[in-house]
Amino acid sequence: MRIGWIGLGNMGAPMSGRLVAAGHEVHGFDLAEAAREAAAAQGVTVEDTVAATVAGADVVVTMLPNHGIVTAVLDGPDGVLAHAEPGAVVIDSSTIDIDAARSLHASVSAAGFRFLDAPVSGGISGAAAGTLTFMVGGDAAVLEEVRPVIEVMAGRIFHTGGPGNGQAAKLTNNMMLGITLAATAEGAVLAERLGLDATTFWELAQVSSGDSWALRTWYPVAGVVETAAVNRDFTGGFATALLRKDLELALAAGESTSTALPFATAVRDRMDQLVELGLADRDCSVLVKLVDGELSS
Ligand code: NAD
Repeated sequence: MRIGWIGLGNMGAPMSGRLVAAGHEVHGFDLAEAAREAAAAQGVTVEDTVAATVAGADVVVTMLPNHGIVTAVLDGPDGVLAHAEPGAVVIDSSTIDIDAARSLHASVSAAGFRFLDAPVSGGISGAAAGTLTFMVGGDAAVLEEVRPVIEVMAGRIFHTGGPGNGQAAKLTNNMMLGITLAATAEGAVLAERLGLDATTFWELAQVSSGDSWALRTWYPVAGVVETAAVNRDFTGGFATALLRKDLELALAAGESTSTALPFATAVRDRMDQLVELGLADRDCSVLVKLVDGELSS
């Protein structure tokens, strides 16, 4: 298939690279030169415009920071909907708010295309390995049509219901990630101060009741787990600004459903502190420095 990919960042570059490796013809677009280079290194044909990226594409995927950008890239005058081929399926894998995803279902359909909200979980390590969990909202028949494309990037694919339900699942999941990340950062610092060996504690917690994905993948002590951003001075990975955004969206969903979320609120406040300290672009596991008292606001 020919695929147009917009947003070649930490997630988009490895995800689109897997499609290239599976034999698809992938054309990509990003505003940032570093992202363009990363995608080109994965075999993506990097284009200079959205129009050139989506020309002739059977499937268009967006992997962008937030809903304002996704909406502009899709609906804008030089956007996807103005240039995509009739019949193309548009998949948004960014994490955006539930109502915005529902609006996009309506506007993309009104423009004559099919749309799925299909956010992912699994981080950049899952993107590189093709083991992401996809949570898909929209028409089940459209999902079946594009399943072979998604499968190349996925460990598991869940159809979570109608328009916006992919985002509903993703925001709930990421709220839990934020809370378990905070628990892991606090545990890592406490364990170290109690004189425990970091690797031994990490290994035992994985087979004990303190286990979580954040613990297994992002343990924030250098040299313990290769996939953790602490080993790269918190560059790349999942930006603090993005986790902050996801927690804001989860809190908004909590408000609209009258659900009290005090732990998510506390972690959002910690992310706010990190943003104020100028760490918005660093991986969110940089939270460990706040716990350790290395940073003060
Ligand atoms: P990123 O910031 O690394 O990548 C986003 C890319 O979009 C950047 O390269 C940026 O230059 C590009 N971009 C911004 N505006 C653009 C525009 N108008 N046109 C073209 N390109 C544009 O972010 P990421 O970590 O790859 O995350 C992307 C999305 O996936 C976010 O919604 C995030 O919440 C979600 N997500 C991230 C992770 C993770 O671990 N990083 C995991 C799951 C989901």
